[in-house]
Amino acid sequence: MKVLFLGTCAADFSPKLNEEFKNCFDKDARRSSSVLLNDRILIDCGIHTLDSLRIAKVDVTKITDVFITHLHPDHFQPENLKRLVKASGNRIRIRVKYGARIDVIEGAEIIKMTPYETYTVCDGIMVTGLDSNHDPNSFPQWLYFDDGKKRFLYALDGAWILNRTYYWLQDKKLSALVIDATIGDIVGNYRIAEHNSLAMIRLMVPSMKIMGIIDEKTTIYLSHIAPSLHKPHGVISKELSTSGLIPAYDGLTTEF
Ligand SMILES: [Zn+2]
Ligand SMILES: [Zn+2]
Repeated sequence: MKVLFLGTCAADFSPKLNEEFKNCFDKDARRSSSVLLNDRILIDCGIHTLDSLRIAKVDVTKITDVFITHLHPDHFQPENLKRLVKASGNRIRIRVKYGARIDVIEGAEIIKMTPYETYTVCDGIMVTGLDSNHDPNSFPQWLYFDDGKKRFLYALDGAWILNRTYYWLQDKKLSALVIDATIGDIVGNYRIAEHNSLAMIRLMVPSMKIMGIIDEKTTIYLSHIAPSLHKPHGVISKELSTSGLIPAYDGLTTEF
């Protein structure tokens, strides 16, 4: 599987995005969280996703499937999604969690996903939506992709890990995990019931290993990073260099 990080920010965007970094990526001016899987599966279409696709020179005519993790505006902008569907020229399948209401988008098919049910996406890839600990009114789901060889979990937004999701993921031995790291190395923050801090991730990782959710081969990326709660990218990368946690950045591509 190939993953391109189009955006890695929480909702506190840098004002520099409007001027200085209008046409380029910057590790400290992150855009709205979004990734592109295998050139054709887009996860989330938020405030900056169209800009990120343009900057990364993505051929949008290859995009056939869009997943919406939840309805918060940093992940879901209906107007941008409409423009993407039009630009792609494809009858895009848009998948959201069951219960989420989104308006009809001309030229697209909207598919509702029941949590813990597995669906075929394309090219032999299967997907399962998993419940996460996040604002329930935003219909949050983590997304688990499996192509028969590799397993990828996109776990934004959400704090900790819910009981059913934890046991569902047991022994999956993820190839790659993208985990919510909104809160930096801060002790004492009101967001701990919807987002993770680095201390929370450090606590979870060893237990996830014991459960076989991940193993020593799993690559763990931190994303949904709030610049106002984190040190600059260079500093976090250095500080985490021996921890096995990799802070993602806009424009990062990885294959596993
Ligand atoms: Zn968010
Ligand atoms: Zn959210």
